[in-house]
Amino acid sequence: MNNPWSSAKKQLKEVAKIINLDKNILKNLSRPDRVLCFSLPIKLDNGQTKNFLGFRSQHNNSRGPYKGGIRFHLQVDKNEVKALSMWMTWKCALVDIPFGGGKGGIKVDPKKLSDVELEQLSRKYIKYLIPYIGENKDVPAPDVGIGPQVIGWMLDEALKNGLTKAVLTGKPLKLGGSQGRIKATGQGGFFVLNELDKKINLRKKTIIVQGFGNVGYWFAKIAFENGYKIIGISDSQGAILSSKGLNPYQVLKYKNKTGSVKNFPQSKNIEANKILLQPTEILAPAALEGVINKKNASKIKARVIIEMANGPTTPRAEKVLEKNNIIVIPDILANSGGVIVSYFEWRQNKNQEQWLEQKVEEKLKKKIIQAFGQVWEISKKRNVNLKMAAYILAVSRVADLINN
Ligand code: NAD
Repeated sequence: MNNPWSSAKKQLKEVAKIINLDKNILKNLSRPDRVLCFSLPIKLDNGQTKNFLGFRSQHNNSRGPYKGGIRFHLQVDKNEVKALSMWMTWKCALVDIPFGGGKGGIKVDPKKLSDVELEQLSRKYIKYLIPYIGENKDVPAPDVGIGPQVIGWMLDEALKNGLTKAVLTGKPLKLGGSQGRIKATGQGGFFVLNELDKKINLRKKTIIVQGFGNVGYWFAKIAFENGYKIIGISDSQGAILSSKGLNPYQVLKYKNKTGSVKNFPQSKNIEANKILLQPTEILAPAALEGVINKKNASKIKARVIIEMANGPTTPRAEKVLEKNNIIVIPDILANSGGVIVSYFEWRQNKNQEQWLEQKVEEKLKKKIIQAFGQVWEISKKRNVNLKMAAYILAVSRVADLINN
């Protein structure tokens, strides 16, 4: 089993060496400022009480309030939230928004709970965190396994306890969310891919997407609408391939009806974990961390991996991919569209504004393209891969603030 926290620390250590980072700053950045682990007892519909484990890791706030999602998944644990919170620190610094890094979650399979149980759990989680979060302290958002309904309950609980709506981003529009937030991560990923295309000329434009939730769907849909060919899609239940190409919108409609992409008409079913090994020009892991690891890295046939999920590639796998000349667009750049538009949402809430979708999209494009350009330049200048270049920029920005 891959330990994302070990991966995160390893990455930091590597970049620290390259930028000659002060050892006390490295020590400071090698652990989160605070990690909360807490018990969440709820009453199940059958009358029994069950305890769930909740977490929130606040990694660093030198650049601004902690920022990062809340995940509902059985894989959530202390190491996962610590790693994800560190990656958030780098991501916010890389795209130059005034936030630090945080992440939280509950070890739970939300699909196994009734609405009544899920509501209790969501409210209890936020209630526990009231002293630690706030629009200028720590600003959570939805991540894996959390839909608009859960965010609605969480926001209601936060407001009841004296916080403002800017404490949560990724809210549905009617609760103060931003235009364009729902598709922002996928949209940002596409802007980045488009920039890469200008540099290396993507020829076949074939894409395989692993994970078909919010991020995977929007990335696939926007790429499809821009002439890319989606030749494979997977979710936790299965995977489908089609050399003729899949229409993500039709696949989503089918998944909403049947619960999975499996058996989508005129496609070939394969095992979910085999999707990563299929030939394609672009591979977009958009599910969970550690899926490209030392066991399968040498079998990857893509030319480009765009890390739409957080931490999908382990450091060991990165070395193999680099040796095989596979270009990896790092997660902290590829999926930063979500937190960029979360930042716009936070600003709109604080200033009582509502921006049009076009304004959100233009501002997102500008910010993410700028970050891509800076990463590309560092990579060329220092002769390092894009991930290392992104880390050099992000960690230096955070370290500079700790220094001053
Ligand atoms: P989601 O819950 O909407 O979707 C997750 C998807 O992954 C689901 O379709 C699920 O079936 C699939 N999945 C789970 N295990 C799988 C497996 N073994 N094989 C194939 N598919 C599998 O979550 P999301 O919001 O789309 O987040 C996906 C990733 O993107 C996560 O790493 C998340 O941290 C990252 N991310 C999300 C956002 C955002 O705005 N939502 C922003 C930045 C990064």
